[in-house]
Amino acid sequence: MLIDTHCHLDGFSDDEVMTVVERAESVGVIAIVNAGVTVESSGRCAELTGLSMKLLAGVGIHPMDLTQMVDEYVYERLHAIATSTDRVVVISEIGLDFMEGMPDREMQYQAFRQQIKLARELKKPIVFHSREAHDDVLKVLREERAYEVGGAMHYFQADLQTAREAIDLGFYISLAKPLLRQLELQEVAAQLPLDHIVLETDSAPQPFKRNRDRWTEPRNLKDISEKLAQLQRRDVEEIQATTTANFKRMLGPSSLVISSLEQAHTQESV
Ligand SMILES: [Zn+2]
Repeated sequence: MLIDTHCHLDGFSDDEVMTVVERAESVGVIAIVNAGVTVESSGRCAELTGLSMKLLAGVGIHPMDLTQMVDEYVYERLHAIATSTDRVVVISEIGLDFMEGMPDREMQYQAFRQQIKLARELKKPIVFHSREAHDDVLKVLREERAYEVGGAMHYFQADLQTAREAIDLGFYISLAKPLLRQLELQEVAAQLPLDHIVLETDSAPQPFKRNRDRWTEPRNLKDISEKLAQLQRRDVEEIQATTTANFKRMLGPSSLVISSLEQAHTQESV
């Protein structure tokens, strides 16, 4: 059993989402968390949970997509979406991105802090993005006491020291497809404690890839779990079971939705 802890299927039509879910099911994916990147897409991610029991949602504004501060109005809109269904299980995708050309840093800090506040108010973990900003992200996590809700460092590509700091703060390391090709990341992943790893694909429509079969989808979790098994010299079954258990632990009370999906999967397989 596998869980795609972070992706963006909201850009697909409902019919396409269902075919993506079916392909994921065929390799043992029992749940997929779609993360919003704007208020609007957060709303669509929450709505998508009505399409299939396997779809869960994250609500949040991505640092790359910020056009304004998270003022009271924006905060209330996010709050309303996050409480519209118990299938919104995380506040995501939030964070800091200091690459050139990204939104104003003051705006990013403000939005990150406000959305951690929202997560703490709702007692939901955060899934955060960090690009060229690891020290600043860790500092904000400490200052805003994000460790009280926990969560995951998404699309992890940093060094072992950064992973350790995030883990010490109570966060999980979320590994994605870069694990299949980045040698440095493979070295780091081989040394990470398995009890602190979750898996994701960050899937989204990729029209720039002409061959549709090559678009990243939640079904690619299987490849990521097999790679991690090879790197950690463990059985792939152990990798899949432990990363799934990790994500449930990360969700806390919201993990009840996962338990029912596990039961359904086990019954289907009998
Ligand atoms: Zn993402």
